[in-house]
Amino acid sequence: MLCEENVMRFGLESCAASRHNVGMKKSDLICPTCNAGYRRIELTSRPGTKGEYRCMFCDEVLEKFDGSTDVAIRLTVQPERTFEADVGSS
Ligand SMILES: [Zn+2]
Repeated sequence: MLCEENVMRFGLESCAASRHNVGMKKSDLICPTCNAGYRRIELTSRPGTKGEYRCMFCDEVLEKFDGSTDVAIRLTVQPERTFEADVGSS
């Protein structure tokens, strides 16, 4: 009568975990003009779209993509509203 259950404890982690996080880079972008904050996620393992990303508040070009990697950018911090400050002096 042999009971060898502890063989199962090894070998499970090494197969499953190591594949997913490869080729994913995260970083943050700050718009130099209006200080909006963006999160940038780049998937280096697959091709993306060629083009550029503009700030959705001030239209500043934040990054240009060459299409070799897939880059997703999304807003995380709204800019302070300094634009509409001077209204109503006449
Ligand atoms: Zn901006």
